[in-house]
Amino acid sequence: MGGSGTMGEKEQMGLPVRITYMPWKQLSLAVALSTLLCSTSSCQTALGTSAKTPILDFHAPAGDPYANAVRDDASASVKQIQSFLGAPFPDPIHFQMVADRENFDAAVAKFGLSPTQCWMVGVGTADLMVVLSPQAWAKQACEHDPNDLEATRLLVTHELIHVYHGQFNPARDFRGIDDLDWFIEGLAVFGSGQLTKDRLDQMQAAVSAGQVPTSLSKIWTGPNRYAFAGSLVRYVDQTWGRTTTVRLLKVRNSAEALTLLGTSEKSLLAGWRASLTHP
Ligand SMILES: [Zn+2]
Repeated sequence: MGGSGTMGEKEQMGLPVRITYMPWKQLSLAVALSTLLCSTSSCQTALGTSAKTPILDFHAPAGDPYANAVRDDASASVKQIQSFLGAPFPDPIHFQMVADRENFDAAVAKFGLSPTQCWMVGVGTADLMVVLSPQAWAKQACEHDPNDLEATRLLVTHELIHVYHGQFNPARDFRGIDDLDWFIEGLAVFGSGQLTKDRLDQMQAAVSAGQVPTSLSKIWTGPNRYAFAGSLVRYVDQTWGRTTTVRLLKVRNSAEALTLLGTSEKSLLAGWRASLTHP
């Protein structure tokens, strides 16, 4: 197989992980080869024998020093997400780490996201997750520190929540449901643990200064978008319960979400604001 990569399968924290180290340009061949290998090996067995054991199909550039750490983060995140939302990933998780911005843009072009902005280092959809290797962040990214292992772990979890969400949503890659940013991003922020004390403190300062979004379309905007969206979904989760949060995975727009919650945009935002003032 060209001699430039190695492939292997191993049990990772109880999760079957298929690992391929390959340059991006050979990935389509690798995917085809993996599929062939899986048709006669443990991948197929894992799929067939336990619905609770999703396949993590992990690909990283050859020799990438971050590959093992990111793969381990992904394995741990899959378990965390399944525990948080109460059901297994319905489909295999196709996880591509890419070496540089050029390959990142090529990988996400089909979602209409290219050229990507410097802060964008991960994309998660039902059928493909792409992460720019932290090795490239110093020169080809902004707002991300490759040495902050905790933030990197949370980022991987965040994107995998988008994958999980997409696997339950009719719009598997979220195209055409832009008005649901507050829930899509809020769920990923809240569920991953990115709703950190630092972010909440910064948001409280903005709220105290009267800088609070007055419409759902403004939640995922500005420097406090992580805290706004994450705390709004946390409020929904605490008020309506986890079962409702899970049911929201299937909605296609904010109108459907509000109908499911039996509330209006105005009431939802008023309740959320009150929860911030009196947590
Ligand atoms: Zn996101």
